[in-house]
Amino acid sequence: MKLAVLSGKGGTGKTTVSSNLAFITKSLLIDTDIEEPNSHIFLKPKNIKNFPVNTMYPEIDMERCILCGNCGDFCRFNAIIPSKKKVLVFEESCHDCGGCKIICRAGAINYCKREIGEIFVGETYFNSPIKYGKLNIGEMSGVKIIKELYKTTPEKDFIIDCPPGTSCTTVASVEESDFAIIVTEPSPFGLSDMKLVIELLQDMKIPFGIVINKSIEGSTELKNYCNKNSFEILGEIPFDRNIAKTYSKGEIICDALPQYREIFENILKKIPEVINNEI
Ligand code: SF4
Ligand code: SF4
Repeated sequence: MKLAVLSGKGGTGKTTVSSNLAFITKSLLIDTDIEEPNSHIFLKPKNIKNFPVNTMYPEIDMERCILCGNCGDFCRFNAIIPSKKKVLVFEESCHDCGGCKIICRAGAINYCKREIGEIFVGETYFNSPIKYGKLNIGEMSGVKIIKELYKTTPEKDFIIDCPPGTSCTTVASVEESDFAIIVTEPSPFGLSDMKLVIELLQDMKIPFGIVINKSIEGSTELKNYCNKNSFEILGEIPFDRNIAKTYSKGEIICDALPQYREIFENILKKIPEVINNEI
């Protein structure tokens, strides 16, 4: 199963959940949070190999260009803008769709290659595989890196540490998954951000369950919302000083504090039930 772990915003415990699940299942973890990958801090990979990821962008041959404007009309990312005298190309905005070359009847468009980031492949300290990508500073879209991470993954079962929020990189990350775990925290922000992620998953028809991180007794608003809408709470990670210390040291909770292992095992046990209820 491809299991995506996502959250409405950064810092809610997404990596805590994904890295602990990778630890207890010993399965591949793919960190697609390409702007700020941090799973490797906890999983401490060794034998790392890195590969560049390139993208293509248009270059205009002004000798051939007839300034018809078709490429600009076609590009929905405003990456190519014909003016009265020349065609401007904003290469960082280009999504490498290849459309402008097809649309240009004058044959004035060729593509150039640019490196936008890297993919890293290694082995965690507990000997399972890990992959992550990193987008170069200044680049606007890392979707290509995420697609490349998946394209080079023959495994059928893995855990995905997705980017936070509901941007196009989250969509690209989660669209490969069979099930999604939303990690949230019991605060008004946690609830409102979680609602946006739920909307996204419902649109994409991906079954999901919820994990409450930093759970505190007496906090009912989030749980009431889940119960009212029949959203399954897969587990709760308590607000605990020892967990915070473990996290700050870059350690896996299940490894450093085995008494919490059951929380993560139970999260995994509940997933088939949620999927069966959806069918
Ligand atoms: S479509 Fe081709 S010919 Fe027309 S403006 Fe763009 S580059 Fe020039
Ligand atoms: S390749 Fe696609 S995204 Fe890039 S400039 Fe051409 S039409 Fe726009």
